[in-house]
Amino acid sequence: VFVCFEGGEGSGKSTQSRLLRTWLEERGHDVVLTFEPGDTPVGRELRRIVLSPETGVLADRTEVLLYAADKAEHVETLVQPALDRGAVVVTDRYVDSTLAYQGAGRALAVDEVEQVARWATHDLRPHLSVVLDLEPAAGLGRFEGRDRIEGESLEFHQRVRAAFLAMAAADPEHYLVLDARGTVDDLAGAVRSRLEPLLAQ
Ligand code: C5P
Repeated sequence: VFVCFEGGEGSGKSTQSRLLRTWLEERGHDVVLTFEPGDTPVGRELRRIVLSPETGVLADRTEVLLYAADKAEHVETLVQPALDRGAVVVTDRYVDSTLAYQGAGRALAVDEVEQVARWATHDLRPHLSVVLDLEPAAGLGRFEGRDRIEGESLEFHQRVRAAFLAMAAADPEHYLVLDARGTVDDLAGAVRSRLEPLLAQ
């Protein structure tokens, strides 16, 4: 089973993905908790390039390809092998982040960005994507100035948010949208309830 958490800055993805890992482990599952960008040796280098403020302005297409390279490495060396051995893989960000940030956020055609991202990942799709939805001004307040992307305009982050919501609305079978202002425990409970039937299959 492959689960991903998506959402804007400061929406609580890493907290929720860690809580989900603990719950799954307590139930006896082999769990791999991972994230994008940067959870492979090559990915760490790519993350440094795409996120360091010292990088300055990257061409939009360069940014897409660097994120796609991170995904290719992530899926091929970490995610797919874990799924093949029967583990539950929980990832903090995946393809939808690229569609939202590099597609909707930048001035690129989302369908072109999607083709690149699907190719990079062998079109591996999560069984469930949890979108932690939060007004960007609220989320950004938590980490102001930490990396290149957080310095983008509020409008950029609003386009990102709208893109996550639109993807979820178009495919409700594979998405769970949660209001990230909920308590940590309530959100974790909602994720578990939605995931339970998938784990039983
Ligand atoms: O999730 P995390 O905070 O580690 O993400 C690091 C940064 O990378 C965030 O600022 C996020 O907005 C950005 N990012 C991006 N495009 C992606 C994935 C992440 O701009 N496809």
